[in-house]
Amino acid sequence: MTEWIFSNFRPLDKPIVYEGLSYPTVEHFYQAMKSPNPTYRSMIAACPFPGHAKMMGRHAKLIPNWNQVKKRVMWYALRYKFAPGTTHREKLDRATGPIVERNMWHDNEWGDCQCHKCRNKPGKNLLGQMLMYIRDKEIT
Ligand SMILES: [Zn+2]
Repeated sequence: MTEWIFSNFRPLDKPIVYEGLSYPTVEHFYQAMKSPNPTYRSMIAACPFPGHAKMMGRHAKLIPNWNQVKKRVMWYALRYKFAPGTTHREKLDRATGPIVERNMWHDNEWGDCQCHKCRNKPGKNLLGQMLMYIRDKEIT
């Protein structure tokens, strides 16, 4: 199955370079920021596929305030990915209507899970909300 057009797994036009490490996708960057450990971050940065980075992030020993920080991390990465002039921003600007990260992995915070169990609870869709904000407020 082709991944969602706005998936965090999609390669960036140019990697995010942060504290000397280079992250090829938003997913790599987001997962790495969970950890305070530079060695662990560098291992995540080097993962060949974003799915690997996600799995490593799941096992990261979290920075103490991760739940407060994570939205800022995502916002930073998305602003970078969807900066004016990028191929991603072109696609975002062409996408009309609501943007919802529909998933089947019970993520009702960043997206909206469509499985039997979650179907009746609305997801917060924070990822979609951020993308629509960038598009509609013409964030630069
Ligand atoms: Zn679910």
